[in-house]
Amino acid sequence: MTLKFKPWLNQLPEYVAGRTIEEIKKKYNLENVYKLASNENIFGPCRQVKDFIKNSAGQDVNYYPDSDCREIRGKIASVFGILPENVILGNGTDQIIEMICDCFVNDDENVVIADPTFLIYEKAALKCGGSVIKIPLKDFRQDIPKMADSVNAGTRILFLTNPHNPTGANITKGEFENMMGKISSDILIVMDEAYYEYLSEGDKIDTVGYTKKYLNLITLRTFSKAYGLAGLRVGYGIAGSDIISGLNKIRLPFNVSSIAQKTAVIALENKGYVNDIRDKILKEKEKFYCVFKTEGISFIKSYSNFILVRSGEKNTEIVEELLRNGFIVRPGENLGIPGYMRVTISIPEINDKFLKAFIKIYKNYNS
Ligand code: PMP
Repeated sequence: MTLKFKPWLNQLPEYVAGRTIEEIKKKYNLENVYKLASNENIFGPCRQVKDFIKNSAGQDVNYYPDSDCREIRGKIASVFGILPENVILGNGTDQIIEMICDCFVNDDENVVIADPTFLIYEKAALKCGGSVIKIPLKDFRQDIPKMADSVNAGTRILFLTNPHNPTGANITKGEFENMMGKISSDILIVMDEAYYEYLSEGDKIDTVGYTKKYLNLITLRTFSKAYGLAGLRVGYGIAGSDIISGLNKIRLPFNVSSIAQKTAVIALENKGYVNDIRDKILKEKEKFYCVFKTEGISFIKSYSNFILVRSGEKNTEIVEELLRNGFIVRPGENLGIPGYMRVTISIPEINDKFLKAFIKIYKNYNS
């Protein structure tokens, strides 16, 4: 007799998580290893968050956290001019994506996603017995008109990512508004804005404002990226109160730790910090572009803190050689874009070291 796993598990594309620093240090006997594979903010969180973690994060850990996340929901509500009942917190936005599918997708229903895109949308939909309609990217961008046209009677959710992962491409306000005007109000639109804070002001879409007009829209943001709190797992969703109260019905109690809640509050109290981070990343991104252009290496213009760069047919070898030199990047083969690699933009010293190593290795394999 064998155990009977649910069949959807076999349909799931394998998620290849980034390699860890310790693993690579040990494998290649290296002293310094730089992880540029998971789009974390290598500058880290703001000073006030660091101070809190150092001095008082351990207080009261014998108590469960506030299951309703009142303080942080109130803070988010006041920052965005909405009500706490329009906000839900998750153990990362990953968990909110999962809750969304759990609430909306039944057996034999579907969700529309771009191909490739962030893997969790598909995973969460399959888990509910649903299927995915995948619409290929067009010129590395989400083909939003086609995604909207692909919605059918069985569609429950359309997932959009802005900026997109893994390409870093954006969605324009015009694309967003056209799509919202077309989609029936019984289809949930998820705007996953995990990298929102990296957009320049002029490129931002006020999706939070649109949640007041469109009751079938939910905006997802996270403290994992620009705020530098990936290790604490805290993300949030903003939507009309009907969506939020539905999600709350299936949310596990105490899903966000007390330390994560408190640090998120402190991070928002100092939210000017993320603009500094964005500006630093913008400046560093220009450096990458400049080096790639000089060397004749193609790349996709990024609105985020990572760049998809064309490393060619020898991508696997180049990624491996980078590992041997202490740089962990994400091979495009694991992201649905073979021949490319995705590299997270780090702090200036590490970027300089990376670019030097990458160009040397790239030239070796492309001469
Ligand atoms: N959405 C996208 C597009 C992402 O790239 C990520 C992180 N890789 C997430 C959501 C999940 O973020 P969190 O850490 O908040 O779960």
